[in-house]
Amino acid sequence: MIYMPVTSTAHQQMSLSSRGVVKWCASILNRIVAPLQKGNGPNKFQLSSIETATTTYHGDVGWANRPTAVIECPQCEADITQPVSSDRIDCDRCRARLPHYDFPEATLLYFQCPSCGSQMKHGKRHPDEFEIPEWATCSQCRYHWEFEHSYS
Ligand SMILES: [Zn+2]
Ligand SMILES: [Zn+2]
Repeated sequence: MIYMPVTSTAHQQMSLSSRGVVKWCASILNRIVAPLQKGNGPNKFQLSSIETATTTYHGDVGWANRPTAVIECPQCEADITQPVSSDRIDCDRCRARLPHYDFPEATLLYFQCPSCGSQMKHGKRHPDEFEIPEWATCSQCRYHWEFEHSYS
């Protein structure tokens, strides 16, 4: 390697070019940020950025703390909302009534996020052992519900 003495002109050139890089970066950044600030669904972007800033992780555990379930009525196929897992499953349309323990036989359409009201994704961890969902997660606000803490 050869070490060159840094002359005053070389030093000036270096600082000039680094200033140019800063300017270039700023213009790239403007181009990336600008479309997010105006047009193209700004609400969605602002919402998610607020959510991620204020809430890191929140959720509940246990069947009693389960999110509101939306179930398909076995008689008339209307949507039945069951906010609490120990509530009877009552259809407002055809008056069908199911006891809460018939939940596994009912068709679960989705869980409703208690935090933001979105439809949640749900699933099972042990399909052979459980007839009910063991987790549900909200892709909008990241609320997560888990049937049990952990499995050994
Ligand atoms: Zn019904
Ligand atoms: Zn949510």
